[in-house]
Amino acid sequence: MYYLSTRNSNCKVTAAQAIAQGISREGGLFVPENLPKISLDDISAMLGTSYNDKAKTVLSKFLTDFTEEELNYCVDSAYTDKKFDTANISEIAKVGEQAYLLELWHGPTCAFKDMALQLLPYLLTTSAKKTAPDKEIVVLVATSGDTGKAALEGFKDVPKTKMLVFYPEHGVSNMQKLQMTTQEGSNVSVCAIKGNFDDAQSGVKKIFTDPVIAEELKKNNQMFSSANSINWGRLVPQIVYYIAAYATMVERDEIKLGDKLNVCVPTGNFGNILAAYYAKNMGLPIGKLICASNKNKVLTDFISTGVYDKNREFYATASPSMDILISSNLERLLYDLCGRDDKVISDWFAKLSKDGKYQVGADVKAKLQSDFYGGFCDDGATRETIGETFKKFGYLCDTHTAVAVKVYNDYCAKTGDTTKTIIASTASPYKFTENVLKSITKEQLPSDDFAQVEMLESLSKMTPPESLLALKNKKVRFNDSITKDQMVDKVKEMLQ
Ligand SMILES: *Cc1c(COP(=O)(O)O)cnc(C)c1O
Repeated sequence: MYYLSTRNSNCKVTAAQAIAQGISREGGLFVPENLPKISLDDISAMLGTSYNDKAKTVLSKFLTDFTEEELNYCVDSAYTDKKFDTANISEIAKVGEQAYLLELWHGPTCAFKDMALQLLPYLLTTSAKKTAPDKEIVVLVATSGDTGKAALEGFKDVPKTKMLVFYPEHGVSNMQKLQMTTQEGSNVSVCAIKGNFDDAQSGVKKIFTDPVIAEELKKNNQMFSSANSINWGRLVPQIVYYIAAYATMVERDEIKLGDKLNVCVPTGNFGNILAAYYAKNMGLPIGKLICASNKNKVLTDFISTGVYDKNREFYATASPSMDILISSNLERLLYDLCGRDDKVISDWFAKLSKDGKYQVGADVKAKLQSDFYGGFCDDGATRETIGETFKKFGYLCDTHTAVAVKVYNDYCAKTGDTTKTIIASTASPYKFTENVLKSITKEQLPSDDFAQVEMLESLSKMTPPESLLALKNKKVRFNDSITKDQMVDKVKEMLQ
């Protein structure tokens, strides 16, 4: 099976090339030429098997240039109970008559990004072995919090890789900062930027195309790659958990094989919900895809009007991993919806970078609305939802997941749809302790992060993740803070 670039249909590459390269040269994203199918018989054959076996079945349909041994190695190295706190890898909790929370945060960094970023280093090194043998892979990441830590955990001590993460000095939560500055591993490092996330991101982008750095890489037999969700290697592991969740729902007699499920996803860069769309188009019985946004509601507006407009005020919210005005993976969906026309996509995305806006035609808008429902909620409603869900079901959700729960409730009230629904639960509540605490108690909060964790534990009786508790006694290894002009030198230093 081959992959095409969304901005140049003549660019055709293997899965290994798509993953090693990350992004196509003209800026397009790689998508499968033909989406493989998953039949009810395939799902029936999965029943009772482990998460890893389910993952191998799904991945083998996409990564056709990987051998069975290679896939086994990648999957079994990534998804183990040494790294995930449950042998099931993800869990499903029932909250209410028709709603099920798919907990995707049982990995080492307590956010759903582990589901992809634990696997990506193995996919990437295996891909590089096929396409650029002997090269060392250098991964640069600009992060607003969750991606950086998940990538560091995924790549730490992985042979023939090096990683450097830049984060905005004042743009991440205390817990997120501590997670990164105490990171272990001989091949990884972390550096704060005196600036915001955009400064970090534009700095990294510039380094990717710096001719002096390119020369240096060649000399050292190294290559750059991306751990960002534009890399196909981050998207494909996410298709797995929707198919696995469907199978689990059948195994538990919550649905019958063939019944439809809706899916609701708290959305930022559109990677997670796009994976559900792909699962649906492979043949998984999925009904509506409910796209939940916070106050940065570009996607809600786009789904209702067909106009994508990023020219608007940016809000820093209680669900920071969804504070995004350009959802990169939307490009892959639109490529499908416009009939896979690379000219149309190139035109829209040129408009987006020039004017910050584009408009799709009536046909694309109609297709969009038949698959997707868009909704949003603000921080007030997010906190109320955390409080209500806790009171009603004894279930504690994080701020991102709460946005999805609220939008799901609104969707049900508005449409009367009673289809059973999987809601993606994307982070442990302990990662956003302060806002979660404020949602369930009016008491004064202690200022120390770990005292807050203790308070949340005593109120909720929910055990905090070991990996977050362990941070308390970890040594800070990285306290460099540099200006964005010093980023190039920092990269040169780590290449040696
Ligand atoms: C990244 C992230 C999201 C958004 O996911 P996308 O794939 O970017 O849409 C939602 N919740 C949490 C906790 C995240 O870390």
